[in-house]
Amino acid sequence: MRLKDKVALITGAGSGIGFETAQLFAREGAAIVAVDINDDAGDACIAEINAAGGLASYVHADVARASDCENMIAAAESTYGKLDILFNNAGISHAADDDAVNTSEAVWDMTMAVNVKGVFLGCKYGIPALQRAGGGSVINTASFVAVLGAATPQLAYTASKGAVLAMSRELAVIHAQENIRVNALCPGPLRTELLMKYLNTEEKKRRRLVHIPMGRFGEAGEIAKAALYLASEESSFVTGSAFLVDGGITAAYVTPE
Ligand code: NAD
Repeated sequence: MRLKDKVALITGAGSGIGFETAQLFAREGAAIVAVDINDDAGDACIAEINAAGGLASYVHADVARASDCENMIAAAESTYGKLDILFNNAGISHAADDDAVNTSEAVWDMTMAVNVKGVFLGCKYGIPALQRAGGGSVINTASFVAVLGAATPQLAYTASKGAVLAMSRELAVIHAQENIRVNALCPGPLRTELLMKYLNTEEKKRRRLVHIPMGRFGEAGEIAKAALYLASEESSFVTGSAFLVDGGITAAYVTPE
């Protein structure tokens, strides 16, 4: 098992990437602290792990709130004695996020609060726990839009993911000599709830797929496998990376017919 005796906290564990990663990390031997604001989804996540013989507990926390983040880290340490892996994965993409002219200040602020401040607060309270454990791995979910612009604008979301990438890089440098690695995981477009609720017609899907050399959307499970690599000792010399898992979208100029 690749995460035997490790303790992993995963935010946004109720759905998509977070859910799949929680299941995979548990199968690889980690004790899981599943965090979400959707209690039914969070409970379902840990029920599946526990039914399969794994070890998991759920903590309700809104990652945009400092007291919730402090509490989720304290819960990990009090329940399992330590924290080794911090996966700051929760993120939102608001339906009214648009270009600079049409995005409201409220949508901008909400997106930044969850996607950027949420990662900052996870690190603010989580990194001291990793230090107490003698080191560990931080994985922050950014996105391919941190390095690529789109004419279908989501300005607040894109800016937030650029911030996650820059923040992860700097944290990696700051903590490099403390046995703490920090990487930004940058998924391409995935077939999860977050994206499919916008791409609700075949035409909208086709318009996106034409840019992906592999010609398909990614699966949450494929991102979970990349997270497992970044969480485990197999990536012991990997820090500060923009870890792109994107079907080749950021490599493409012209895609195959
Ligand atoms: P998802 O919507 O399927 O799951 C997100 C989970 O986060 C949900 O369970 C939700 O309840 C939870 N959540 C939302 N706000 C929260 C908060 N304030 N505090 C705690 N939990 C909260 O999304 P997903 O596709 O699995 O996305 C996960 C991450 O991956 C996000 O950061 C997203 O931006 C990023 N991402 C997704 C895609 C994609 O195409 N789906 C691509 C690149 C990056």
